Amino acid sequence: MNTVDVSAAGPAVKVEERLFQNRYLVDAGRPHIKIRPHEAPSKALLALTHLCPAGCYSRNDKGQVEAVVDGCVECGTCRVVTAKTGEVEWNYPRGGFGVLFKFG
Ligand code: SF4
Repeated sequence: MNTVDVSAAGPAVKVEERLFQNRYLVDAGRPHIKIRPHEAPSKALLALTHLCPAGCYSRNDKGQVEAVVDGCVECGTCRVVTAKTGEVEWNYPRGGFGVLFKFG
């Protein structure tokens, strides 16, 4: 019987803990991702409150979806998920701003 030694990979680390290792340079007042004004979010936009790995999307008390993208890891999930609805205006951050990944 074959076995795999997973101890060499070290202890399991939660995604949230890994994301915390990254650093961000916030471009104050110039978010690189914006949500177009809406009365009620589409299912796609609403799904981002669960899908965004950085937790950038949330609902306000009117049921609309809002984004605070300071911790965005630029994965592009929100861009892909809302490609058909066009509710998200997505750009990369300006040069020198955004996420600074820490590996290892
Ligand atoms: S690009 Fe990824 S991390 Fe950034 S806001 Fe969209 S889903 Fe979240």
